[in-house]
Amino acid sequence: MARALYIHWPFCAKKCPYCDFNSHVREGVDIAAWQAALISDMRAEAEVAWGEALTSIFFGGGTPSLMPPALVAALLAEAERLWGFDPGIEITLEANPSSVEAANFAALAGAGVNRVSLGVQSLDDAELKFLGRLHGADEALAALETAQTHFGRVSFDMIYALPGHTPELWQERLTRALSFGTGHLSLYQLTIEPGTRFASDVRRGRLVPLDDDEAAQLFSITKSLTEAAGMPAYETSNHARAGEQSRHNLAYWRYQDYAGIGPGAHGRRGGVATVRHKKPENFLAAVARQGDGIAEARALPVADQAAEALLMGLRLTEGIDLAALSARFALPVSGLIDEAALARLAGLGLMWREGDLIGVAPPGRSLLDSLLAEVVADTLVAA
Ligand code: SF4
Repeated sequence: MARALYIHWPFCAKKCPYCDFNSHVREGVDIAAWQAALISDMRAEAEVAWGEALTSIFFGGGTPSLMPPALVAALLAEAERLWGFDPGIEITLEANPSSVEAANFAALAGAGVNRVSLGVQSLDDAELKFLGRLHGADEALAALETAQTHFGRVSFDMIYALPGHTPELWQERLTRALSFGTGHLSLYQLTIEPGTRFASDVRRGRLVPLDDDEAAQLFSITKSLTEAAGMPAYETSNHARAGEQSRHNLAYWRYQDYAGIGPGAHGRRGGVATVRHKKPENFLAAVARQGDGIAEARALPVADQAAEALLMGLRLTEGIDLAALSARFALPVSGLIDEAALARLAGLGLMWREGDLIGVAPPGRSLLDSLLAEVVADTLVAA
């Protein structure tokens, strides 16, 4: 069983126009105050979550590569003291591929980070500018090379289905991305999230996203090229060589428990959903007041847990074991899924069923949300 710890660092140098993560731009950050607050939040979590060694830690953000390596080292030392580390622990840090941050990679590896996930996003300067990124393509490639020198495991993100992305162009870009030989790639289609600058650009007609058919064509190119390169999708947007999957993210998708500390971090432990205060200043105030940053800790009804487990698990290529889920939540299979809808979607080639295992077939992957709405039992959705 996974014992996963997520640590959120909420600060970025600049807000990207498509970003709806909990990220904030601040003039100055009091590192000593943040170290004390995150350690206090971690200690509070250790009092209630597991007594066993951690199997993964993930520093997400925001831009955790802006954290001083000494802060990362201090947080890791505390986590090890509180829980202990499994010998094969995976410690991932999300990083922006700028030269400033790459200069810290050796020190971050020295602090114990053994996997890095780089927000490269594009290998083209004009696209990076459109995405509002502060780095250029050459800088990103240099950072990738530095990362591959210092970390045993490297992943990077690319965004596709940008306006103007033809099949030929995306094929060329992805072929290049695959040529760098990382063991993991996260390939996301541009989605327009409410409340972002891109959402208002679309409303004002300044940005025209690709239509669904064009995006589906790019999705299919992604599948063919990554499979041919030995990096098939193991989740909707995540591709890896055998053994290179993100163990931390697998804990989320397999609906295993995880502790989440830092502003806005979510956690799931023993059927309790935790969420921390989102705004950095409110988080610090909560820790000063109560010793942890928790805004809400709520016992989830079993039906909500089962619905979450289905929504997460059906993202995975490996699918979900209905018998195991039924035993875990003491619900009949008919209380988990709409079997008639599943049979119909399987008949259309969009989903599959092999005994107790069900999953989304490749042609259904770009339609995931609508498939989930049909196949998850009404009793769970209504819960
Ligand atoms: S660097 Fe990442 S977290 Fe920060 S604003 Fe950009 S996309 Fe969001």
